[in-house]
Amino acid sequence: MTSHPKFIFITGGVVSSLGKGIAGSSIGMLLEHKGLKCAMMKLDPYLNVDPGTMNPYQHGEVYVTDDGAETDLDLGHYFRFTHSPLSQKSSATSGQIYNDVIKRERRGDYLGKTVQVIPHITDEIKHRILACAHQENDINIVVVEIGGTVGDIESLPFLEAIRQFRNERPFDCINIHVTYVPYLKAAGEVKTKPTQHSVQALRAIGITPDFIMCRSESKLHEEEKEKISLFCSVKKEAVIEAVDVESTVYELPLSFRKQQVDDKILKMLRVDEETKLLHSDLTSWENLVEAIKHPKGTVRIGIVGKYVQHLDAYKSIYEALNHAGVSAGVKIELVRIEPDKFAHLNHLPEELQGCDGYLVPGGFGDRGWEGKILTATYCRKEKIPYFGICLGMQVMSVEFARYVLGLEKANSTEMDIDTPYPIISLLEEQHVVTERGGTMRLGAYPCTLKKATLAYESYKQVKVSERHRHRYELDNKFKDDLEKAGFLISGVFEEDGFAEEGLAEVVEIKDHPWMLGVQFHPEFKSKPIDPHPLFKSFVQAVIHHKKEQVHAQKK
Ligand code: GLN
Repeated sequence: MTSHPKFIFITGGVVSSLGKGIAGSSIGMLLEHKGLKCAMMKLDPYLNVDPGTMNPYQHGEVYVTDDGAETDLDLGHYFRFTHSPLSQKSSATSGQIYNDVIKRERRGDYLGKTVQVIPHITDEIKHRILACAHQENDINIVVVEIGGTVGDIESLPFLEAIRQFRNERPFDCINIHVTYVPYLKAAGEVKTKPTQHSVQALRAIGITPDFIMCRSESKLHEEEKEKISLFCSVKKEAVIEAVDVESTVYELPLSFRKQQVDDKILKMLRVDEETKLLHSDLTSWENLVEAIKHPKGTVRIGIVGKYVQHLDAYKSIYEALNHAGVSAGVKIELVRIEPDKFAHLNHLPEELQGCDGYLVPGGFGDRGWEGKILTATYCRKEKIPYFGICLGMQVMSVEFARYVLGLEKANSTEMDIDTPYPIISLLEEQHVVTERGGTMRLGAYPCTLKKATLAYESYKQVKVSERHRHRYELDNKFKDDLEKAGFLISGVFEEDGFAEEGLAEVVEIKDHPWMLGVQFHPEFKSKPIDPHPLFKSFVQAVIHHKKEQVHAQKK
């Protein structure tokens, strides 16, 4: 295979939210099927050092890597579509880049020079692209996605850096420009002008696109492709269609394969001689898409979280549920429930009822907390499957302490600092933390599971590793009382095996078909072809519960 890495830069034009992440992931996936090793990377133009300090309404989910980087949700797409290494080296923001350069300037590393965007910021960007390419030995292709839209002030240093990078390696780089080709109803035709203008903007910066990828609602006609080819100076075969996929984003790689995007890219990168004899077998992916399109049933799962109105705030959870649904042959109907609407009711609100299972995702702060507690009470009493993730696990623990142990006013100190029963309290190491950014318990930690528990039955192994992002934990002082009352700590963080004093990572309720909470985020490690074991087990329990309900109604 190619002796040194080649680079694919993905830029976007016309509008934001074009799905550059999914397009890049689909390309990465296809190139992997050609036997190449890919590394995916995201460059984000905003000034936050990472998205960890941003509201999910602004930015969507924060994706976490094994080594504890808090990153853009596109890294989640990269994980689901490819086997790219994902680490601190897989993403960078303007904030991180400026931060590093300014720190160096303060140390005096620039020896009296004037520190400028060109060359100091652009050098740092190029350095990071190379660091991503060399994070492992044998990486053949690096797919670098530039966040934002061409024409934005913020993304200029990144575009300048890739112009230079390309100039230094003319045979090793290509640019794919993703644009939007709108359909104008009144004129009854699609319009290519916005694409032409955005390509002009890119060329003005000194970057000539090699491929134009056109997002559109309907298929492009040959004349439209010819027009784009003519005005944008790319070959007609280099005009790629990215028509809105019918039912699943996992169809996009198949659509690209039909257009031979992988072969065309490899030819342009001059790696085609080495790969052209390789037949890429996409059968498992084709089967996946078929299964998504033809479910044999439906189950309703209620997601009880603060940010349910934002489509991307719990992106990996929605994906992980869908993966588990596909493997069980069912479609998951997501019911978005806002817990703050019924935070102070003492009866069961209507909007909480009618689902076959409930999932309480991660979160911060007390808005909606009591509504989530109500959800846990409802599921515990009615024996409805409940899956608590991070904050959802803490909800489940506090609920049990309050209403089974009878510790009235039990709480998390995040919600009530003066609670007489701090079931959930700050992790020891968090007491000295003063800064907000990057200071949580982050990344992968090993977890040891107890045999003959729901957790062990799901994973079918004792040692697992999962990713974290939290500051609070179950306080072991309450462990004995909780366990005596039927609460089970089935997974702990303890380097040397299962120990009584280990940090509680997985909890379950013994006398319940499926009520389980995890302090970590299993959703970050679910793939469509390889769904996460806990999500699979939860969805099986949900299907089972639905069947029982139907059966009971018939009687
Ligand atoms: N707010 C809780 C904590 O910091 C839960 C965090 C989360 O759900 N990611 O521990």
